[in-house]
Amino acid sequence: MSEYKKKFILDEERIPKAWYNIIPDLPAPPPPPLNPATMQPAGPDDLAPIFPPSIIAQEVSGERYIEIPEEIHQIYRIWRPTPLIRATGLEKALDTPAKIFFKHEGVSPAGSHKSNTAVAQAYYNKLDGTTRLATETGAGQWGSALSMACQMFGLECMVYMVKVSYHQKPYRRSMMQLWGGTVIPSPSDQTNAGRAVLAEDPESLGSLGIAISEAVEDAVTHPGSKYALGSVTNHVLLHQTIIGEEAILQAQDADAYPDVVIGCVGGGSSFGGIAFPFLRENLAGKTNTRLVAVEPTACPSLTKGQFRYDFGDEAQTTPLFKMYTLGHDYMPPGIHAGGLRYHGMAPLLSHVYDLGLLEAVSVPQTKVFAAAQLFAQTEAIVPAPESAHAILVAINEALKAKEEGVSRNIMFNLTGHGLLDLGSYDTFLSGGLEDYDHPEAAIAASIATLPKVD
Ligand SMILES: *Cc1c(COP(=O)(O)O)cnc(C)c1O
Repeated sequence: MSEYKKKFILDEERIPKAWYNIIPDLPAPPPPPLNPATMQPAGPDDLAPIFPPSIIAQEVSGERYIEIPEEIHQIYRIWRPTPLIRATGLEKALDTPAKIFFKHEGVSPAGSHKSNTAVAQAYYNKLDGTTRLATETGAGQWGSALSMACQMFGLECMVYMVKVSYHQKPYRRSMMQLWGGTVIPSPSDQTNAGRAVLAEDPESLGSLGIAISEAVEDAVTHPGSKYALGSVTNHVLLHQTIIGEEAILQAQDADAYPDVVIGCVGGGSSFGGIAFPFLRENLAGKTNTRLVAVEPTACPSLTKGQFRYDFGDEAQTTPLFKMYTLGHDYMPPGIHAGGLRYHGMAPLLSHVYDLGLLEAVSVPQTKVFAAAQLFAQTEAIVPAPESAHAILVAINEALKAKEEGVSRNIMFNLTGHGLLDLGSYDTFLSGGLEDYDHPEAAIAASIATLPKVD
């Protein structure tokens, strides 16, 4: 095999034809979402005001495999398969016997894995007659992916962008606008939810929870409009399983099936997407791959939150979801990995974690940025600060293998590139980055306000 083929494990014939739904393979079904008014399980009817019928069908599906429509597959081929790359430069710098591989989702046109679900959601909305989508975005990755996808299918796109990121990442806004999206800093004066927050705190930096409230309100108050979510829900995790399915084929091609798979978690979609196909193999008794979720110490929902019913948004407009949560009014410090600042965690991923099938760790941002720099210097790619959480833990695993003197196959998900995060890298390079201790008191105060369900 040539050195190139050893480094870039990439075969264009190997794009999976179906997404994988893990629910039928789990030892116990996930707890249902609840309607907060009745405390009864929320059914498809509760979701009908915000999602189109085909997305709702996927949200509640019990099918193990859902075929990817040809129209979506054609668009996927613009950037898929994403390469699985052996991090030979990083291995050398660490002097480790471990083999490190990363799945490079940053090659999509919008720069992250979020395009995988954006294209699917725009397609199904178009199919069901939606003309306009409203959404929220944190760092702007989701807003850009959805703006791109809406442009492809001729849908209007309204993006409520968390205010701190709107100012930190001005070029993401340009990108969304270039693809025809309308971008509004949140909290805004365009919705009741936004106005209520501004009345309390005119200086509010915003949060994903607030932006979700605004986008949901926008969708239900405008004809032809639906709401689109970039993470957290079952259908988003489903669409992202293309990452793990592809990675399994590539790992087999490289004869390097991973001993450990590592990914960062914000709402949990990219990690669910890479981990669930590997978990299927574990559950079938074929493999014993460790699956490690990495979150910021400033927003540690899996490692410091509670597995409780909570709202998905700040204004308490969504159904109640049983998930690892820090409380819907938890306001995470303004860390630079904007995509990881969500108070909750995907209910499906939370359930799988509660079943003991995953590991989770939290890491501070100064170490994350140092890992990102080492990666940029050894593999040439500038990673998204979110993805760098996984890089740090992959490095730690490689160093552990070195200490133990064993070779291991380590795989991590490079969820996006960081070329629009250079402002954050500037702060890091000038020594201005700070860590936030576990904000125990803020978490306790927020958790105390959770609805009493169980
Ligand atoms: C949004 C985002 C994340 C976090 O979202 P998940 O749903 O947890 O995947 C991670 N990395 C990048 C680059 C992102 O844009």
